[in-house]
Amino acid sequence: MAQKLAAGNWKMNGTEASLAEIDAMIAAYPDPGCGVLICPPATLLDRLSKRVGSGPIATGAQDCHANASGAHTGDISAEMIKDAGGAYVILGHSERRTDHGETNEQVNAKAVAATGAGLVAVVCVGETLEQRDAGETLDLVGAQLAGSIPDGISGETLVVAYEPVWAIGTGRIPTIEQITEVHDFMRAKLTERFGAEVGGAVSLLYGGSVKPSNAAEIFAVENVDGALVGGASLKAADFGAIIDALQ
Ligand code: PEP
Repeated sequence: MAQKLAAGNWKMNGTEASLAEIDAMIAAYPDPGCGVLICPPATLLDRLSKRVGSGPIATGAQDCHANASGAHTGDISAEMIKDAGGAYVILGHSERRTDHGETNEQVNAKAVAATGAGLVAVVCVGETLEQRDAGETLDLVGAQLAGSIPDGISGETLVVAYEPVWAIGTGRIPTIEQITEVHDFMRAKLTERFGAEVGGAVSLLYGGSVKPSNAAEIFAVENVDGALVGGASLKAADFGAIIDALQ
């Protein structure tokens, strides 16, 4: 059975003042009925991890390098994320794939590094509007799953987020039928490759303009185990309402 997870991606947002949102969340959710994860920018990871302490809110990063250390200016490794208190790392977000040209092979290598360092890899997949209009969504998502996810994963080391690129930060979301189709497909693909036990245990998140107003409807979809939330994760009240819809 896959864990329910509400994951927040703060992207390139947040400074010391933003930690007040975490304080509000810690106070509001001493014992949430689902997993809660916040992935702040790398500059805040250590501070945020200390803030949540050993409580139920987990922290993570938004990317890692495939190597453990070395001459890679500006990058951080999975070991560094672990050292800063993170337990998860988002990999292959469409903004990384677009802005930094990340390929499935690179995401795969990062996922190997992440799981090797003891982190949970949150691997993102999703089509552009052009690919959806061309009827390529399932082929694309299937290829991203096959290429970006390494062998040997488990429900404890992998989370998959389906994030249609055209729904991220746009206020547009796919229909419930479209979300259902892709999530059923992803569950089937993971089950085909890793077996029923692992395939059924990987949390499948939907991401793209999730808000308090649409969360409950999305979470009612059978193979949606939670959400990866960008903009609405920045404010404790909004993210809290999404957590409420998931519990
Ligand atoms: C994201 O960045 O992963 C995301 C889903 O963003 P938003 O919720 O703002 O669409």
